[in-house]
Order: sequence, then C-alpha cells, then structure tokens
Amino acid sequence: MRDLKGQHIVVAGAARSGVAAAMLLKQQGAVPFISDFGEIKPEYADRLEKYGIEFESNQHSERALEGELLVLSPGVPTESSIARTYLADGKQVCSEIELASWFNRSPIVAVTGSNGKTTVTSWMEHIWKTAGREFLTAGNIGTAFSELVDQTGPEKTVLLEVSSFQLDHIDTFHPDVSVILNITPDHLDRYGNSIEAYAASKLGIVRNQTSKDWFICNADDARLAKFKDELSEMENSPRILTFSTKKEVEKGAFVRNGQIILKTDNKEEILMNVEELALPGHHNLSNGMASALAARALEISNEAIRESLRIFEGVAHRLEFVRSVDGVRYINDSKATNINAVWYALDSFQIPITLILGGRDKGNDYRELAEQINSKVHTVIAIGEAREKIKEQLGDMPITIKEAESMKEAVKLARKGAKRGELVLMSPACSSFDMFDDYRHRGDMFKQAVLEL
Ligand code: ADP
Repeated sequence: MRDLKGQHIVVAGAARSGVAAAMLLKQQGAVPFISDFGEIKPEYADRLEKYGIEFESNQHSERALEGELLVLSPGVPTESSIARTYLADGKQVCSEIELASWFNRSPIVAVTGSNGKTTVTSWMEHIWKTAGREFLTAGNIGTAFSELVDQTGPEKTVLLEVSSFQLDHIDTFHPDVSVILNITPDHLDRYGNSIEAYAASKLGIVRNQTSKDWFICNADDARLAKFKDELSEMENSPRILTFSTKKEVEKGAFVRNGQIILKTDNKEEILMNVEELALPGHHNLSNGMASALAARALEISNEAIRESLRIFEGVAHRLEFVRSVDGVRYINDSKATNINAVWYALDSFQIPITLILGGRDKGNDYRELAEQINSKVHTVIAIGEAREKIKEQLGDMPITIKEAESMKEAVKLARKGAKRGELVLMSPACSSFDMFDDYRHRGDMFKQAVLEL
C-alpha cells in the first residue's frame, strides 16, 4: 500500500474512472484535484461536490499542471498537453488501474485484447459464480477498479477488463493471471497509426509478472505466438498457457476430434464437446477456452467450468439473438465496432445473410470482408456516414447494396430481402456516434425496430 497522505495529485478526465480515482485518492488522504479539458457531466460534477473534491472543466489551469503525480483517465491521450507536461517534468503519469492496484488485496485476473474482453470477463464471472467462488468485476466492463478496491481481499478474485489505454501507464500493476485474447487493428489513431505501438501496450500486461503467475494467450494469433516464445526464454517469466482452435498446443487448451482438451500440467483432460458450447462461432470457442484456462489457473474445478461453458448465454449486443420473424433470425452485434469483429460474426454462420453495416468509419477497409461476404451475404444495407465508402469498396461484388437513413428503415429493408431460414445481422464495423449515443443505444434501436416488425 502506498502512502499518499497529504499529496497533491491531479486527475485528468472527469468521467467514470477519473471520478472514481479522485474519490479513492481522497479516501487515502491525498488532496486530489480533477481537471477536464471539456465539459463535466452533471452527475459527475454532483458526485465530486458531494465528496468535497475540487475540480475544473473546459481547461487545464496552472494548478492542474502542478500535482506531484498525474492520474490519466483512459479517455485522455498520452499525447495530450497535460500528460506531456508531467512527463517532460519527470513526474509520474499513471493510469487509473495502476492507482487502484496500489490498494488491492485480491488476486487479479486481467483480460485484454482487441475483441472479446467483455465476453471473456462476463464468462469468467459466470464460471466463478457457478463454482461458488467470490469475485469482484471491474474495469472497462462497468465499475472502475478504484471504486471497489476497498472491497478486495485474498478470498475474492478481481476479474478485470483492461484496455490498452489503461496499460499504457502502468508501473507496478501486477495481475496473478493475465490474458491476451488477440491483437488486431483498433484505436490506432491513439498509437501514431502503429500496430506495433498498440501491441506493445497490450503486451505490457505481463511486465511485472513472475514465475508464480500465469500468462494465457491465443496461439492462433501470430504476434502473440511469437511473443510467448520469447517470454518463455526469459528468466522468472510467468507460467504460460495458450489456446488454439486450429492446432494442438503444448500447454493450454485445444480441440481434438470435436472435443475441447485442457492440459494445464502434463495431464490431458477432456473438458467437453465443442458442440456443447453455448455461444456460436470460432471466436467464442477461443473465448470459452481462454475463460476456462483462467479458471483452471486459479484451481476452479472442471465441473464448474464445463457447466458454465454449456449454459452461459453471452452478453447483450454481442451476437445477441433478438427474435425470429417469418422464419428469419435477427441478430444484434452492435458492439462489433471494427472489421475483425464483423469477420468473426460472419464466420459464425453458414446460412444466407443480410448484413447491416456502417456508422462512423474508423479507417476501415471493408474489402477485408470480401471472402466472407462472397460466401454468404446476399444483401448489405449501409447506414450512417460510412455509406458512400461501403458502396465504393463493395460495389463491384455480386451482392445487392441498399442504403437506409435510420435503423428502422434498415430493418424494414432487411425484412423485404430476407427469406425463411436466413439471418439478418446488424454488425456495423463502425462506431455509432454519427447516429446514436453509443453502441448500446444503436443495439437497442435495432432491437426495438425488430420487435416492431
Ligand atoms: P471487447 O470488450 O474487447 O470490445 P466484446 O466481448 O464486447 O469485446 O465483443 C466485441 C465484438 O467482438 C462483438 O461483436 C463480438 O461478437 C466480437 N468478438 C467477441 N470475441 C471475439 C474474438 N475473440 N475475436 C473476434 N471478435 C470477437
């Protein structure tokens, strides 16, 4: 535990994690000051006032630059002027999970990756519940780690969803089990358009791990496979488990003859048939194996893992089944905000698909979906700002491309073109901010439109 009594500490960014960090600082006897370059939402301003925490909005004043250390919210880039000032002054800049970890008393399972973090964190929650083990869930998924770190203790596992932004500024953060699901392009605008820089941030999750800890990663991801080979050569490196849907791995989880096999020591154990997994798609097989390995690392029984893998129904807005209308299934995958997630969504089904695609484009190349589209999509309904680009990039494919002004119109158009036995999939590959508050709002609008059919 670090003694922060009387220290003047500045927090940049006054949203969920920044406010939680400031409250933790206050609880620990520090003197926090929270500074936001933009507006502060009234709910956060109210909370800060209630707790007697000083704050400023729409600026970073002199005072904001004079803290002994800076806690950076995940939404504030390393390149921001405030972070650069602290770094240039040789002062510490840390992320909110780094700060929280100074006061943590629980074993931590930390999950990162470009896609699947929330699914795996929720799946682990389900396994822990099924096994009757105590846990706290925190991070990107909802509650900031700082908000519940005072509830930690050796008997409770912290299941932590961690973004690369949180990992950018860790120092002593030390998970007992770290999991990297995959590394594919996302958020590159925050990493100088460098996938290497983005990958390095994620790989930093193992930085403080030792041979007492575990590192779990995806052997089907070439970058991760190479990284784990290098890591295993290093002194005092964590114990390594990998998972693969394609090949047998030395230690970890893999598939043989349609069965999931776990091999966490030298013994192979048959866990279950792949077909019994509750969630569809290869990516969910990977996610299920990653969750199972994390549970095995912390000695949860195969029985509990098996039961959970059979019944876990997934998380809203991730390949979520909405309803069937006239024999057509409607699936909400609003959280698919990058091309890779859509690729896996399409890969999960082997029937004709009408795909609702688009929103605010993040520099996508939709042609990366060409093979999947060729084999099963007959109609693309383009929505949002990305419409023109989608038409341009997919225009020469033998499919119908339609445009819709609203989600309601998109769903109506989809219904017209879809036949019994087919699927309508809303998996947009884009962010939602051109038409909606966030991906949840977009997913809810889709669901509402489907329920109104
Ligand atoms: P994250 O929390 O990392 O954003 P989610 O679990 O919320 O990930 O899923 C985001 C999107 O990615 C959803 O569309 C989901 O279906 C898809 N997805 C989930 N797991 C994977 C995976 N392992 N690989 C690729 N896509 C995935």
